[in-house]
Amino acid sequence: METESPDWLRLQKALAVEAERGFTDLMGKQYRFSEFLCLEFGKPPATLIPIERRRWQEMANKFARYPDFPLEERQHLVAETRRFLHQVQQSSNKQIQEQTRENREQYTIENPNYKAPLTAPLVQSNVGVSLDQQLSHLPDVGVRKSGYLAKLGLQTVRDILFYYPRDHIDYARQVNICELEAGETVTVVGTVKRCTCFSSPKNQKLTIFQVVLKDRTGQITLSRFFAGNRYSNRGWQEGQKSRYPVGTIVAASGLVKKSQYGITLEEPQMEVLAHPGDTIDSMSIGRVVPVYALTEGVAADMVRSAVIAALPAAKQLKDPLPAALRDGYGLMKLPEAIANIHFPPDSAAKEAARRRLVFDEFFYLQLGFLMRRQAQRQKQASAILAPRGKLIEQFHKVLPFKLTNAQQRVLNDILNDLQSSSPMNRLVQGDVGSGKTVVAVIAILAAIQSGYQAALMAPTEVLAEQHYRKLVGWFNLLHLPVELLTGSTKTAKRREIHSQLETGELPLLVGTHALIQDKVNFHKLGLVVIDEQHRFGVEQRALLQQKGEQPHVLTMTATPIPRTLALTVHGDLDVSQIDELPPGRQTIHTTVLTGRERTNAYDLIRREIVQGRQAYIVLPLIEESEKLDVRSAVEEHQRLSESIFPQFQVGLLHGRMTSAEKDEAINLFRDNQTQIIVSTTVIEVGVDVPNATVMLIENAERFGLSQLHQLRGRVGRGSHQSYCLLMSSSKTADARYRLNVLEQSQDGFFIAEMDMRLRGPGQVLGTRQSGVQDLALASLVEDQEVLNIARDAAEKVILQDKKLEQHPLMKAALDYRYQRLMGGAILT
Ligand code: ADP
Ligand code: MG
Repeated sequence: METESPDWLRLQKALAVEAERGFTDLMGKQYRFSEFLCLEFGKPPATLIPIERRRWQEMANKFARYPDFPLEERQHLVAETRRFLHQVQQSSNKQIQEQTRENREQYTIENPNYKAPLTAPLVQSNVGVSLDQQLSHLPDVGVRKSGYLAKLGLQTVRDILFYYPRDHIDYARQVNICELEAGETVTVVGTVKRCTCFSSPKNQKLTIFQVVLKDRTGQITLSRFFAGNRYSNRGWQEGQKSRYPVGTIVAASGLVKKSQYGITLEEPQMEVLAHPGDTIDSMSIGRVVPVYALTEGVAADMVRSAVIAALPAAKQLKDPLPAALRDGYGLMKLPEAIANIHFPPDSAAKEAARRRLVFDEFFYLQLGFLMRRQAQRQKQASAILAPRGKLIEQFHKVLPFKLTNAQQRVLNDILNDLQSSSPMNRLVQGDVGSGKTVVAVIAILAAIQSGYQAALMAPTEVLAEQHYRKLVGWFNLLHLPVELLTGSTKTAKRREIHSQLETGELPLLVGTHALIQDKVNFHKLGLVVIDEQHRFGVEQRALLQQKGEQPHVLTMTATPIPRTLALTVHGDLDVSQIDELPPGRQTIHTTVLTGRERTNAYDLIRREIVQGRQAYIVLPLIEESEKLDVRSAVEEHQRLSESIFPQFQVGLLHGRMTSAEKDEAINLFRDNQTQIIVSTTVIEVGVDVPNATVMLIENAERFGLSQLHQLRGRVGRGSHQSYCLLMSSSKTADARYRLNVLEQSQDGFFIAEMDMRLRGPGQVLGTRQSGVQDLALASLVEDQEVLNIARDAAEKVILQDKKLEQHPLMKAALDYRYQRLMGGAILT
């Protein structure tokens, strides 16, 4: 989420006050200092350039750990942040001014800190190197080293060129000695005032090499340590010294640190310059240095030197992206991007290179999805379903409310799809209560009035039954039959349903996984609706689809995932969002409480029940064992009903109960025979009891944010003010920060986005659909803008050239990448 402009003043003030009061993580009106900063840095302002944006987000992580920092680190972080903010504010003011003049389409990179580079281009000796050459044939690599590199899967020159560094260290920033600030990575240039090399008096095996450098503004002592007998040799020590005679000009790079002896550089890299202003030749001094993922036996310099040997071949890479497309999106050329991702002259060049290569990762992924969708569309024709007709008209008449704009928009998307002979494959994302069911019902009626059957599948019996109940109401008014099929449907009823389906008498079947069993055969299945689609596996969805001939498929989820993630995982689906709630929905008061405040929570529950309301108490999943879950639920239920709420009826719901028992528990609660229901997370999906106004969640920190949001959606469904109480005794700032997001927001899309930022895309999706992590450079959190343009570009290309016949290079790149990326596994 982006905000227009942060409140610079408030941020700086918070930092100043924290410094004044001695870095105690002050408690403000609403938040602790660290929480406030963490929240603020969670939302990068829109004006940031990519590097700043990254640093902005890193700040959020740093402040999340602030409470655990020792004083000194707190002090550093606060100082660093104040400088950073100052600098960003200036550059963003400047940018805003410029942007009003400038054509915003054009992507520009500005780095306010950027000093002209001191570096020369890398010395490139291997002029004759070619892309498909074996690394072992490069003189600078050789057979022995290439054997190690093969362990990283690197065989050819091309392989190593596409082996992107996982990080860079920025040594490109040259500063004066007096400006050194701990924690920054810099280069200083100065003259040698003194140089010594000696064995440590305390440890004969340790050799210490020290240079004192000075410039106009100050001086600094740099030390390097060499452990081992071979360095104790006087000859070696004298040799070192002789390279740095007094008066020599030296460039030194490294991480600035503060020690008891003053400020210095950690493990400084040094190089002698003949004259000040001379170019620096070393591959690690005064520039941005790549850091590679290594494996055993492969040293950092081994990869670096192999990359340097291979780099001249980058020029031979042909760019599959046409120039017009590249220019349109402001993308660097491929050969240049490859060169700069490894050894960029500065951060700006690195960011531009990274942006291009991230674009490629997304672009080929989207291209693959779109081509696949094309192929699907051509396979076989689906039923054409009429968007208008008697049934839909009648339904609108009996519906007691008007559709929201968002519902209408999404409905139009769907009805459009249904009129086409290529099968619909659409995902509708919408918050709890946004009214997905009504939209699905209208699609179902479109199928029925066109003479087809429809199926609606939900992940649990509770949910299937609830859908059924609602649909029966509406279908009765329309004089249409509808049946429910679940694991607990009696045999006789089951047989009857089977036969009515086969004859076509039954237009709509609602149910659970029972729908995909062998015996279920439809007469003419035209539309499949899958609720809470993420709870089903790919195969289960496919099985239901196979019950018809290319039926249209509508999937729905109340656990929205961020658009970037949706595009990456379901790129071959169309996605619509119901991003508006029906009018009159209240905000649910959400509060995070610690264990000590539990009595307050219980008091609130009592007050609400006395006024006729009801409450949920949800216990967390205990990962290791369902048995333990059940036991803790049973015990908690007993404790609550006997000692805490003896005057009320307390129900219990957990995963080990039979469906009949579950149904009974829910029915009792629905009828207000029980006022409180103690439940494991089985309650999460879809249960609808409008009279319930309190949702208390124990150990809330164990849940994902989206899941908590789902649970919270169980209340606030009626006209009464509702409450969500998140119990958490976790003291980590991270946990508190996460829970605060829920106090702040009721927007499922925002919450999903935060969840992804805080836990990473893999966690948000769960294990079933992972595979997103295979992107080498791209981050779904940070590179959303690039993903959007990549999707856009891929759509344009496919529109003109369905099979990539006019783009052979692109086709080749796609085949190569698609194989590597998908491993043929995740989306079959
Ligand atoms: P979801 O499945 O998206 O969580 P539902 O479809 O169950 O939401 O709808 C939640 C409630 O809101 C239902 O009681 C439904 O009848 C009602 N509802 C749906 N759309 C509207 C609307 N446009 N105006 C008023 N109420 C609506
Ligand atoms: Mg629903």
